[in-house]
Amino acid sequence: MRIPENIKIYGILYSIELVEDKDCRGNQGSCWTKNSYIKINKTLQQDVQEEALIHEIIHIIVDINNLNDMPITEQVVSTIGAAVHQVLTDNNLFN
Ligand SMILES: [Zn+2]
Repeated sequence: MRIPENIKIYGILYSIELVEDKDCRGNQGSCWTKNSYIKINKTLQQDVQEEALIHEIIHIIVDINNLNDMPITEQVVSTIGAAVHQVLTDNNLFN
């Protein structure tokens, strides 16, 4: 899957920017729900960029649904994100 320039989540258009490693402070990506903005580290391999995008989408879904008070840790988001990416990849849904 190519990383698109934007993506719609719950009807809101989010800009996606591929940025240098220094602009991600060593992270794979970041998101800002209020600003409708996602950034992905462009130095990552393609499949890792895809997984990072899914990870940030999950963060936004959690945020929009006010689930931040629930025990949804970074580890939970990472585990679900990696699993969803694997399922989509194994079923050729990115092609
Ligand atoms: Zn995260």
